[in-house]
Amino acid sequence: MPLVYKRILLKLSGEALMGDQDYGIDPHFVSELCDEIKDVYDIGVQIAIVIGGGNIFRGIKGTEMGLDRATADYMGMLATVMNALALQDALEKKDVPTRVMSAIEMRQIAEPYIRRRAIRHLEKGRIVIFAAGTGSPFFTTDTTGALRAAEIKADLLLKATKVDGIYDKDPMKYPDAKLLKEISYLDVINKNLKVMDHTALTLCMENKLPIAVFNIKKKGNLRKIVFGEDVGSIVR
Ligand code: UDP
Repeated sequence: MPLVYKRILLKLSGEALMGDQDYGIDPHFVSELCDEIKDVYDIGVQIAIVIGGGNIFRGIKGTEMGLDRATADYMGMLATVMNALALQDALEKKDVPTRVMSAIEMRQIAEPYIRRRAIRHLEKGRIVIFAAGTGSPFFTTDTTGALRAAEIKADLLLKATKVDGIYDKDPMKYPDAKLLKEISYLDVINKNLKVMDHTALTLCMENKLPIAVFNIKKKGNLRKIVFGEDVGSIVR
């Protein structure tokens, strides 16, 4: 079967590294997640990853504690760097070559983000992990995912979630929620469906970048998607 998507950007929320804990990183869970990523890597897909930080710190939480928003957001960006290193460690334990590129310079632990270098790494078969979000406060790592995907000319942005895709209402609250297989960017925005923030969505829309929303907890889903199989929901 031919590959449908050859260069992908995978957006993982920080919570994806948390497993069943309610904070931080579960190494066992991260290792399982990396098996899924390696599976797709071994087929020859070029993979870039944007990792969130919500399992450690979110800007919004900081403002509730009384911190200045920008300061809190920088703390959130630092949280994504920790997650990026955990992910790098787990992937390299499986012999997958990786590079962490940070939007905020931290030369001792990550390369600075340079678009052309990121593309070069992908071409050389390295998984690139983008850390520190966009490097600017007031943004999210979903927006970072859309931005980096456009910059590296990814064929698809994959948004990993805990549920099977996009529903007409919250499937955690409503058992009769319906899974929407395909939906337009504007419908997601107008119906205020919880997929990604609007900044991320409009960036994808303007760049005609499709978004696959899928359940990362189901083994084999990632592989199915790169082969164009009908998994989860697609926004285009
Ligand atoms: N953040 C930011 N600018 C960015 C990306 C992230 O300021 O470009 C901060 C923001 O405070 C956010 C935190 O980093 O709450 C962690 O990212 P996010 O909440 O997107 O992580 P996720 O929900 O995906 O785990």
